[in-house]
Amino acid sequence: MKLSVFHLSRRSIALRHPFVTALRRVETVDFVRVILHTSSGRKGIGEAPPTPAITGETMESIEADLQRLGAQMMGLSPHEAQALLMHDTQIKSSAKAALDIALCSLIDPCPISSNVPLRSLITISLASPEAMRREAGEAMRRGCRHLKIKVGGRDGQDALRIETICRAFPEATVIIDANQAWTRDEAEHLMLTCKAPNIALIEQPLVRDDLEGMRRITRQSPIPILADESAFSFEEVVHVIETGAAHMINVKLMKCGGVRAAEEILSWCAAHGVGCMMGSMLEGPRSIAAAIRLSRCFADTVRFVDLDSPLLYADGRIAALMGYQGDVIVPYM
Ligand SMILES: [Mg+2]
Repeated sequence: MKLSVFHLSRRSIALRHPFVTALRRVETVDFVRVILHTSSGRKGIGEAPPTPAITGETMESIEADLQRLGAQMMGLSPHEAQALLMHDTQIKSSAKAALDIALCSLIDPCPISSNVPLRSLITISLASPEAMRREAGEAMRRGCRHLKIKVGGRDGQDALRIETICRAFPEATVIIDANQAWTRDEAEHLMLTCKAPNIALIEQPLVRDDLEGMRRITRQSPIPILADESAFSFEEVVHVIETGAAHMINVKLMKCGGVRAAEEILSWCAAHGVGCMMGSMLEGPRSIAAAIRLSRCFADTVRFVDLDSPLLYADGRIAALMGYQGDVIVPYM
């Protein structure tokens, strides 16, 4: 089986509500889809959204990377193409993930270790404490139980946001994601005020490179600290864990460069007893499906699933087709 043709297209899916974090505000999920066709008539599909604030990639840079590598892959087997991809030092992480997802769908996938339904976190966008409480209430009424609340408002209201939601929904599991927005002093202060028993994790409190600060907070925090932007590659994951800069890792295909790289990280975390979140950017359905599959392959290590993009699409039929029933993702039969 050789790769014979590849095809790129730009896709856009409207969101139900604008998505707001400390880093950005968007109203659609935009991504590039790559389709790799083989000589035997099969096709592998991958996707990557540009998140310039996080991976430094744009629509144009992803297309340029896919164009260059896609052309080099023609005539190779999927395994040979994957080796080429692994050794390319110029391609950025999301473009690499798109090609890797497409190739992995043509190659034997990892064995699924658990077929139980997964429960995804639901992201509550950064807004006023009252607006966030309303949005969380709506999610709870739809049956959601794991809330990821986006904080880092730089308006002195984060403590109130956290308190308002934890108190209004004591039955929910709450994850706080600061998206790098807190200073060391703010993080220490907020940690002391985060007393609600239903807070499960604090995600990326400090700026990505302040590993010394992350270490200090990880040492002091009674609540597990999860590294997201501080840990992209396998090497960064190992460094963050070995130096005590976080308790857990948020693994995202778009950060690490695809399924193979995520498997390497998850295997290392499994061997070292490090819990992970399987996360995502705002993504299209194909890359989310690859992340769902990985969550099932590493069911013991993936303690939290943060794959709610399909639930944010304005068209609810896509999520339903992918097996989402509310925030629960049921396995394909
Ligand atoms: Mg995050």
